[in-house]
Amino acid sequence: CGIVGAVGRESGSEALDTVLEGLSRLEYRGYDSAGVAITDAYAAEPQILVRKEVGKLSALRNSLAEDPLPNATTAIGHTRWATHGGVTRENAHPHRSWDGKLALIHNGIIENADAYRAHLKTLDIKTVSETDTEVVAHLLERAFLAEPKPAGGEEPVGPESVSILELDPENPNPKDATRLVRAMSRVARDLEGSFTLLAIQEEAPGVIVAARRSSPLVVGLAEDANYLGSDVLAFASQTHQALEIGQDEVVVVTPSGVLVLDETGTEILHTRGLEVFAK
Ligand code: GLU
Repeated sequence: CGIVGAVGRESGSEALDTVLEGLSRLEYRGYDSAGVAITDAYAAEPQILVRKEVGKLSALRNSLAEDPLPNATTAIGHTRWATHGGVTRENAHPHRSWDGKLALIHNGIIENADAYRAHLKTLDIKTVSETDTEVVAHLLERAFLAEPKPAGGEEPVGPESVSILELDPENPNPKDATRLVRAMSRVARDLEGSFTLLAIQEEAPGVIVAARRSSPLVVGLAEDANYLGSDVLAFASQTHQALEIGQDEVVVVTPSGVLVLDETGTEILHTRGLEVFAK
């Protein structure tokens, strides 16, 4: 129901705090559970960590107060309004891929999820929740693993687009970030229904990759951090510079630059700090 993302350079708790504050600004929309996933781009071995709870945001905050998550540069958060599967912790977002390396949040409904679930079963990938969203987490991780590593970090993400290193010269793993964007483009094309999707992957810990169809997504621009939200309210205390993401577009968000691709993977625009370079 509500979606927030933050990616910064500081590995304090800033990204997670920003996401929790954003979720509280979206509370008015109603929800039945809440969750976050984080990773740290500058950790020696970045890991994806997830925390989710049924009930109000205060339940999630209490859980984090009792058992805090470590520092993070990158965080995503979700408040859920259940459409597929009951109100349980397993069904709350973020959902992880079977190998635990990818976390995904989703607003909307995936109409061809059951067909994909059956296909995943034939590959011995079993789902642990009843949601349409978890299926997409597995599809995305499979697409990520199938995507070849670009030869150099300088390789453009799509035809005539900038590379991840141009977006963020400090990105510790530009090759895997490129793979995650390409995987999202590929998977989003084959989904039916409505979605705003945000994903993080532990081998690409300095980016958030997102896609949307018939469900809103805005990006907030700042100097050393960038934000995502299902509504500008999500990052209103951080910045008032926002970019609206269009139908079927895919976006990659780093601390210093954002890249927006159309449904064919071709660049529409990129940013550097607050400056927007439209094609
Ligand atoms: N269809 C998803 C679910 O039931 C997402 C619901 C939402 O938009 O919050 O978990």
